[in-house]
Amino acid sequence: MDLPDDPQVEPAGAFAGTPDGLDRLWTPHRMVYIGGQDKPADDAPGDGCPFCRIPTLDDEQGLVVRRGEVAFVVMNLYPYNSGHLLVCPYRHVADYTDLTDDEVAEVASLTRTAMRVVRDVMAPDGFNLGMNQGQVAGAGIQAHLHQHVVPRWGGDANFLPIVARTRALPALLGDTRAALAAAWPATEGTTDPC
Ligand SMILES: [Zn+2]
Repeated sequence: MDLPDDPQVEPAGAFAGTPDGLDRLWTPHRMVYIGGQDKPADDAPGDGCPFCRIPTLDDEQGLVVRRGEVAFVVMNLYPYNSGHLLVCPYRHVADYTDLTDDEVAEVASLTRTAMRVVRDVMAPDGFNLGMNQGQVAGAGIQAHLHQHVVPRWGGDANFLPIVARTRALPALLGDTRAALAAAWPATEGTTDPC
């Protein structure tokens, strides 16, 4: 599937105020992204892979929303939209056909519950769901499979450049993470880790 590209173009004259201010707010983060700081140097599992490293952090640090038995849900550090989640197997696997039956089932059930929880908390009008398989298909971190859950609101394509820039700040991602984690049903989709 074709998820929206990272917005590059300012909507000319669409908003009051100085877009410059938002640019300054965003720029350091944006530069980290361009610099590929979180991109693994190679396809190896372990500390070099963010999706292997995240489960070793605590929930707040790693922006983890939910931990299942073989897969977990995390906030996307570089969201296309507010509430953009990723569902990943713990195992460092690139291709969907390499997943075990248990991993397929839990990625699916966590995705379903993620939609319910985001709907409860953020009331989106729709979602984009999908996986980019391979770099040519747009996978930022191709070596470790991740399913995108992107909430959509009517008209969000018009203000997405502004929303993405402001909502990408880690503090706000942390707030969203806490709200979604609190709304996640204790018994639905997966078991508690402890
Ligand atoms: Zn990995």
